[in-house]
Amino acid sequence: MSLAIVHSRAQVGVEAPAVTVEAHLANGLPSLALVGLPETAVKESKDRVRSAILNSGFDFPPRRITLNLAPADLPKDGGRFDLAIALGVLAASGQVPADALDGVECLGELALSGSLRPVQGVLPAALAARAAGRALVVPRANAEEACLASGLRVLAIEHLLELAAHFSGQTPLAPYQAQGLLRRLRPYPDLADVQGQHAAKRALLVAAAGAHNLLFSGPPGTGKTLLASRLPGLLPPLDEGEALEVAAIHSVASHAPLDAWPQRPFRQPHHSASGPALVGGGSRPKPGEITLAHRGVLFLDELPEFDRKVLEVLREPLESGEIVIARAHDKVRFPARFQLVAAMNPCPCGYLGDPSGRCRCTPDQIQRYRAKLSGPLLDRIDLHLRVAREATALQVEPLAGSNSAEGAAQVAAARQRQLGRQGRANAFLDLEGLRRHCALNDTDRHWLENACERLGLSLRAAHRVLKVARTLADLEACERIARSHLAEALQYRPSGQT
Ligand SMILES: [Zn+2]
Repeated sequence: MSLAIVHSRAQVGVEAPAVTVEAHLANGLPSLALVGLPETAVKESKDRVRSAILNSGFDFPPRRITLNLAPADLPKDGGRFDLAIALGVLAASGQVPADALDGVECLGELALSGSLRPVQGVLPAALAARAAGRALVVPRANAEEACLASGLRVLAIEHLLELAAHFSGQTPLAPYQAQGLLRRLRPYPDLADVQGQHAAKRALLVAAAGAHNLLFSGPPGTGKTLLASRLPGLLPPLDEGEALEVAAIHSVASHAPLDAWPQRPFRQPHHSASGPALVGGGSRPKPGEITLAHRGVLFLDELPEFDRKVLEVLREPLESGEIVIARAHDKVRFPARFQLVAAMNPCPCGYLGDPSGRCRCTPDQIQRYRAKLSGPLLDRIDLHLRVAREATALQVEPLAGSNSAEGAAQVAAARQRQLGRQGRANAFLDLEGLRRHCALNDTDRHWLENACERLGLSLRAAHRVLKVARTLADLEACERIARSHLAEALQYRPSGQT
């Protein structure tokens, strides 16, 4: 056999498209041509593979070797193909039986000694290998992650020799048995740790129940960050599919091994974060904060301080749940279905309306500060809440739903109702859904119309009031929206005082 084909996987965004490595040996002057890898990666990869093969005690065939990585238009950087390339050379030269290779896919970077180094983005490749019905060979350090794709046959190795011995039948490898090392939940911060702030806690509960975005406005020191960080603990647990999506993102984003899985992320980027850091990008597109917050919470503190251009980019993922990053020749899609919690001060100094009377901001300054946020962005936030400073007093509060476990139970029941009724959370209701599931009786409709008129609310804003009212009704297990739900929902609209 002088031709061998080995399967591997590239990494594009959070996808792992198939790559085949064809190794062909021909008579002629000894040479090694590597086609399909970028120029810079070719030499390093050749050197590693040659050394690894020789140092493992195999022959490096003294013939004309052509290696072709296909398809040609995928980014194929990094050493993740080393193992597949080395195996191709060994199979094409008859040192490993080539017919054994069809049922497996290989990932791994080789050290000069022939030992394996872990690579990034193993989980997406594992899910794709499982879908393709093949086993996956990975470096031992990646094995736990590969096993998150349950049912996948994982072969974990530390050295090229182990794989050669496996394929030649000398020492067959047993499939790796997952230790469950990655399945470890860190407790979410608890709502019970936040003193007072009943209205804000209530808003958090409503946000969690209907997947509504939320904006806190209030002076410094009112616990806005503390409150926002409690939202993940109120949300329903991730299901298996969602958990794998989240884990796959973190698998391609970081060199660090996965930990605390399956868990809803909470991301809190600083307002000085660059566009690519926030929404993703770069020459090899990397996921940004909005993708790292997928299926979890993105908290933007001091919202008006963020670059306005960056904030405008958020509008697309807030609608579609994904971000498309255009590159010179193609596009990369990253999932970005996050729940937004934002916080802002009421004025540049933060103390507008505070009883201390510290604020010296002029109306002009206040106007300019608020104008930094565009209407279309604010329009995508269903719940606006003014947070005041609590009077310093010892409080004991046996309020229902004021710890995270109780709150999460209420949220889960309300979500269940929404999924059963309309297949999605209330925040994602479209016009048809509003018509079918948020119908009001005539009296209540007139009442709401009058209220919207009086408050100067647009039709869009009125729709947001209805969605929030629907969530409030679901929290009380009510079939229909009542006047009390509408009245509370109206309180979550921004007034002139934000
Ligand atoms: Zn001020």
